[in-house]
Amino acid sequence: MSGSERTPRIAIVGAGMGGLCAAVSLRQRGFEVRVYERAPALGEYGAGLQLGPNLYRVFRALGLEKELRAAAFEPLSNVSIKWDDGALRYREPFKGVYERKFGAPYLLAHRGDLHTLFRDVLPANCVVTSKLCVGAESRGDTAVARFADGTEAEADVVIGADGVRSAIRAGLFGADSPRFTEQVAWRAIVPIDCVPRAFGPNKSTRLERGDYFGWLGPNGHVICYPIGDGERLNIFAGHVSEKWVEESWTAPSTKEELIAEHAGWNEALLEIYSRVGEVFKWGVFDRDPRPEWRSGRVVLLGDAAHPTMPTLAQGANMAIEDGYVIARRLHENRGDLAAGLKAFVAERQPRTARVTLQSRQQFANNRMVPPPMPISRDWIFEHDVTA
Ligand SMILES: Cc1cc2nc3c(=O)[nH]c(=O)nc-3n(C[C@H](O)[C@H](O)[C@H](O)COP(=O)(O)OP(=O)(O)OC[C@H]3O[C@@H](n4cnc5c(N)ncnc54)[C@H](O)[C@@H]3O)c2cc1C
Repeated sequence: MSGSERTPRIAIVGAGMGGLCAAVSLRQRGFEVRVYERAPALGEYGAGLQLGPNLYRVFRALGLEKELRAAAFEPLSNVSIKWDDGALRYREPFKGVYERKFGAPYLLAHRGDLHTLFRDVLPANCVVTSKLCVGAESRGDTAVARFADGTEAEADVVIGADGVRSAIRAGLFGADSPRFTEQVAWRAIVPIDCVPRAFGPNKSTRLERGDYFGWLGPNGHVICYPIGDGERLNIFAGHVSEKWVEESWTAPSTKEELIAEHAGWNEALLEIYSRVGEVFKWGVFDRDPRPEWRSGRVVLLGDAAHPTMPTLAQGANMAIEDGYVIARRLHENRGDLAAGLKAFVAERQPRTARVTLQSRQQFANNRMVPPPMPISRDWIFEHDVTA
């Protein structure tokens, strides 16, 4: 749209974490934004998310720091427990530590609460639901998203924020399948009072209400943490599995299956499992990092560009960082939006590729006996995309 005074129009496909953050950030910078979501209503499935200091800075820059603090929980300590007898591996302080070291805290939230936080600052007519996108293409100085109902949306830029099985990605770069990572993950939420306070040899392992804790076993690892106001405990149980047989990448599971998969594990974990109600399992998929996410005026972000294993808990963090950076880069290049998209990919590709590859490495490390200490995420947390 070079040379024109018209407000640039951005069409975003997918109202997930990355798409909504991009919408909020772009609107704040004066762009006209429309989000197209295939689901009939806006909402997020129930599960917890870990938010690093790198992500906190994005919320701060968007003026949503107070809202994030109110929606998220800061854990007391990080406790690692032996998978079989429940003995303590290590305990390290959490609360206040990240703030002192990185200038921003490490928080834990329910995905739905973050989703609501973004939605609440967008006008109702900004997001159009029941719009299944089937592809997008560049047409000269504009771009067009095409939908299954036969309609099209024209804009100056189309952003494909449509997740790991992105239709826009397939259209731009060819239909391939994401790689099954050999990880299956169960996720459930239980009341915080399920947490046993003392267990292990001579009841020497103690947990405080508000701790983040986990077990690392021979064939998987389990992480539990309080979310929101601290009254709910999020459970993530990642298991090594040779194949994913479900048609869908997420499927309902049962408490019985969860318990059976962890036969022989520490009784404190099994006690928590006995309180599980609804539980889902995911086949975890990723892709090799690709160098290019853009074709003309169409670009990918979030999982559509760089699906990542959850072992460093950074997939949504990276999608939200992307959403902030694309707005900054397009704003800086308002007269040449294609150059803005190029600058966006150049800034984001190396960082997200490193996260994807280190997440795989962490998964491999988790399978070693004995497992090494976790890979340091300091380089991720130190980075400030808002600077
Ligand atoms: C088990 C598990 C645990 C995880 N834990 C963490 C964690 O603790 N911390 C973290 O940072 N990350 C975590 N992640 C990763 C995180 O969930 C993703 O990286 C993140 O959701 C990606 O955001 P996104 O906006 O790119 O895509 P999504 O959140 O997948 O959103 C894509 C949106 O696009 C819509 N859509 C899809 N196709 C179309 C279409 N054709 N037309 C229109 N709309 C469409 C979808 O309905 C959806 O609303 C975890 C992932 C898994 C599987």
